[in-house]
Amino acid sequence: MARYTGPVCRLCRREKTKLFLKGTRCESPKCPIEKGRPPPGQHGRARVRESEYLLQLREKQKAKRFYGVLEKQFRGYYEEAATSKGVTGEELMRICESRLDNVVYRAGLAMNRPMSRQLVSHGHLQVNDRKVDIPSYRVKPGDVVAVRSRSKSFARIIENTTYAEGRMIPDWLASNLREMTVEVRALPERDQIDVPVQEQLIVEYYSK
Ligand code: SF4
Repeated sequence: MARYTGPVCRLCRREKTKLFLKGTRCESPKCPIEKGRPPPGQHGRARVRESEYLLQLREKQKAKRFYGVLEKQFRGYYEEAATSKGVTGEELMRICESRLDNVVYRAGLAMNRPMSRQLVSHGHLQVNDRKVDIPSYRVKPGDVVAVRSRSKSFARIIENTTYAEGRMIPDWLASNLREMTVEVRALPERDQIDVPVQEQLIVEYYSK
């Protein structure tokens, strides 16, 4: 599936927030958002009148870029959320959180979501003892995600787990970085998802 391969800091500058797409650099003073760099493009510094539509569009783009999801798939997630029994916006966020690449990142097995996506698609992960190489695979409560035994000595993965040792792992995941495994205790409630997105604006965007 196609994906964005351009400079990622540009995406953060466009959304005026940290999307944490680069690992250690995101926590350092070198981060362009820390430096106060303006949105990209010729009119990046221009004052733009923030219409209702623009606010909705930007929230939708921000959420897509956080999770590294393209438009067609994200709209599909919205349609699934809209037909579920729960609150549409919360369901949408829950669906995004349950992606395998997100779970691998959240559990501390990857420094950022692009890296997590790459680890999954290169076949380094398994779910319930079966290899899964689809980043958009959706986990369920009770699933156990693990680095495959042949990949546990992979330097990049060891580096990732060391980096993640001081990081907050959300309560809905039981992560064991030493064993490189994570159990999905439950799917998260909205207050357990620390993504600064106003999902109601996304619902308004799509429901027009
Ligand atoms: Fe975004 Fe990280 Fe680049 Fe900062 S360093 S702009 S958080 S990708």
